[in-house]
Amino acid sequence: MISELLKEFAVRQLTEKPKYPKERHWPSDVAKCLRVLVYQWRGETGLTPEARLFFVLSDGETHHKLIVQQLERTGRIEVVMKEAPLKDKERNISGKLDALIKFNNRFYVLEIKSINRYGFDEIIRQGPNEDHTIQLQLYLHFVKNTYQIDTQQGILLYKCKDTARFYDFIIDYNENVVQDFFEKLKIVEEHLRNKTLPERQYERTDWHCRYCEYRQTCWAGIGQTAITDLSQTELSSVLGELLDIKEKRKALEKDEEELSTLIKIQLENKGISEGTIGDYIVELKEISQRRLDTKKLEEHFKEQLQPFYKTTSFKKLDIKENL
Ligand code: SF4
Repeated sequence: MISELLKEFAVRQLTEKPKYPKERHWPSDVAKCLRVLVYQWRGETGLTPEARLFFVLSDGETHHKLIVQQLERTGRIEVVMKEAPLKDKERNISGKLDALIKFNNRFYVLEIKSINRYGFDEIIRQGPNEDHTIQLQLYLHFVKNTYQIDTQQGILLYKCKDTARFYDFIIDYNENVVQDFFEKLKIVEEHLRNKTLPERQYERTDWHCRYCEYRQTCWAGIGQTAITDLSQTELSSVLGELLDIKEKRKALEKDEEELSTLIKIQLENKGISEGTIGDYIVELKEISQRRLDTKKLEEHFKEQLQPFYKTTSFKKLDIKENL
């Protein structure tokens, strides 16, 4: 009931004040496809964003403000600037810094990202997201050049929204990364001047495209091609991708099986059925299932069982590499 009201409110908030056509470059543009940026500068209409996007963004802002306050309250960190505006008139870039902090007599640009537990675990395993790192580099650049504060390092602080865990990375300043981003902006501006569009950076099945607000405009016509109209090459590439996904899934299932067996053995060897390991709580439960033994049923009832069978059919796609 009232959840519907919130949904309507969110859609109004997202659509009432159109953000596009863009008037400035933003540091968050680092994460965007070049083609998306050109669409946004042109003011092309994309798909209506999902209501939950509004809450995701506003929850993120709340988390970030709160974390900065909490850092201040540790008594060990001085928050020198928070939500400070950043402007580069020459390149027409503007943004906002989460915070500049002073810790152990050194200045650090602080960039906070709140993410879900899957993203969080991935970050711990694989390291920081590249787009987040570039964004932090930009803030370091602006703090050094606009505010003339000597900062050589930034901190990328991740918060897991589901479990309230934190993890941080110290990032060294790298001017080359910043210059690469400025080059990217020049490419966008060139396309705008020439009224052209950059090449699509991703395949239609890539998550960037699946969640892109311009996917209909960008893939207009192409997505509607009947499968029988696909060329041999296109069809072969789709099949290759499908086979690749199937193989990755098999490998992941195998990894899952091996890792879970490893944990089970560890717990069993120690005679533990539940406990805490690092940030995780584990439980090893005995589960019993009761199922009809169809083999025994067939042996017992033989032909009498036939009327109780139901036949369903489906098409199975089998792909193998033609070596
Ligand atoms: S649909 Fe994909 S290629 Fe097209 S603009 Fe969006 S992200 Fe870029």
